[in-house]
Amino acid sequence: MSSAGQVPITAQLLAPVAIKRNRQSERSGSVRSVAGTLVRGALAALYLQQHGQADAQFARLFLNEAICRFGPLDPGPHVFPSTAASCKRERLRHTIADLLWWRVAQHHLAGPLPEEAEADWRECARCRADLKAQDGFWRDDGGRLREMTGDRHETAAHVGIDRRTGTAAESMFYTLEALAPSGADADLYGWLRADDEALDAVRQLLRAEDGRVSIGHARTRGYGDVLLRLGEQVAAQDEQDSQTRVDRWTRWSRELNEVLAAPPLSLAHRESASYAPDGFFFGLSFPTGAVLVDRFLRYTLDPAQMIDWLPPMPAVADAFPLQARLTRSLPTGGVLRWVAALTRHERLRGWNAAHGLPRQDEWMVVRGAVYVYRFEGEQRQREALFTRLSALADDGVGLRRNEGFGVVAVSDEFHRRFHQQEVEQCMC
Ligand SMILES: [Zn+2]
Repeated sequence: MSSAGQVPITAQLLAPVAIKRNRQSERSGSVRSVAGTLVRGALAALYLQQHGQADAQFARLFLNEAICRFGPLDPGPHVFPSTAASCKRERLRHTIADLLWWRVAQHHLAGPLPEEAEADWRECARCRADLKAQDGFWRDDGGRLREMTGDRHETAAHVGIDRRTGTAAESMFYTLEALAPSGADADLYGWLRADDEALDAVRQLLRAEDGRVSIGHARTRGYGDVLLRLGEQVAAQDEQDSQTRVDRWTRWSRELNEVLAAPPLSLAHRESASYAPDGFFFGLSFPTGAVLVDRFLRYTLDPAQMIDWLPPMPAVADAFPLQARLTRSLPTGGVLRWVAALTRHERLRGWNAAHGLPRQDEWMVVRGAVYVYRFEGEQRQREALFTRLSALADDGVGLRRNEGFGVVAVSDEFHRRFHQQEVEQCMC
C-alpha cells in the first residue's frame, strides 16, 4: 500500500454514540473507542444514501483494503502498549515505565533477575508501591505524555419495541453504553489511509453532509450523530524517509543491547544468559489489534503464521534456553529468532450491518500486543531485513485491515523512551 497516504480524522460527538460492547476485557472498564468497522460502516451507509447502489466506486472505497482503510476512533492518538506500567497507587501521577526490555532480559536469563536488578521494574521509583499495567490512550504534549481517558460515559436503559405492535415488548429491556460528547472540537481521533482518488471520494462524501454522519448502534433512538473532520495528509515523521526509519530502528536495537549488557542486568557477563551483544533486535507491535490466522484459518497469536519469514514462537516447554529456540534463515542471509512477547487474544464481536444480524465472533490479538525478535547476520543481510520490515510497516498484517486492524509498528519508540521510569512525566 505504498502509494497510499494517511490523513488524521477527528470526531466531534453531537449526540452520544452507543457502542455494543465487543469484548469482555479485564483491562478496560468500559468502551472507549469506536471500531474502524463502525467508521467504515457509517461511511458506507452514507455512500448508499447518496448514490443509491453499491457500484464499482463503493467496492473501491469499502471492500478493497489495498485502496482504503478506516482506523478506529480513540480518545487519544496513541494506545499504551501491553508492556506499559504505572504506579499502582497514584498511577501516572507518579511514574510511567515500559517493561518490554526487562522481559527481553528475563527471556535471556530463563527466569527472574537478581533481586537488585528487579526493583526498578517492579516498584514505583517515587513511593515504592508496585507497578501495575497501564492501559488506555495517550498523546504527546510538548514532549510530555498526557493520558487521554475519554471517560465520559452514560448508560441508557431501553425498552425493546415489538415490531408487530409498535409498543413496548414484553421481557425486552436492555442497556446501552454510550460515549458522551465533551463539548470540545474533537472527542475522538482516528485515521484514514487511502490512495488519492479514494481520499477525494471520501472527502466529497462528507462534504455533501457537512461532515455529519451517523455512527454506532441505536441510531433511531437519537444516538450517533457525529461530525467527522478529515485533516490534511501528513506523512508520519519518518514515513517517507526510509533512512530515518532505519536509523530509528538501529538506535532502538543499540540502546536495548546497551541496557542488557550494562549493570544491573549485565547479561554479557552471565554465562547462562545466552546473550550475544551484536544481534539486531526489533519489535513488532499491533496498536490497533490484529486478526491473525494460520493456514487452516485457525486464530493464532503467532505472527509467523502469517509472515512466512518470521521464526515461530515456541511452546513454553521448548522455549528455554533461548539459544535452543527454532530459528529461521532468511533467503537473503542471516538468522532470526523469537525473543519475547506480551500478547493475548480478545473476542471481537461480529455484527453484520447489511443483515442486521450477529456474525460469528472472531479472536483478535489485543491492541498494544508486542513481539520482539533478534537477527544475527552481516550488515548487507541486515539491510535486506530492513526492506522486509519496511514493507510490513507499510502494509500491515492479518485479516480485516480495511477496518483498521493489523497496523504494524516496528520498534515502537515508547519502549525505548520509557524503559527507565520517568517520574512525574505525566501532566494528568
Ligand atoms: Zn508511586
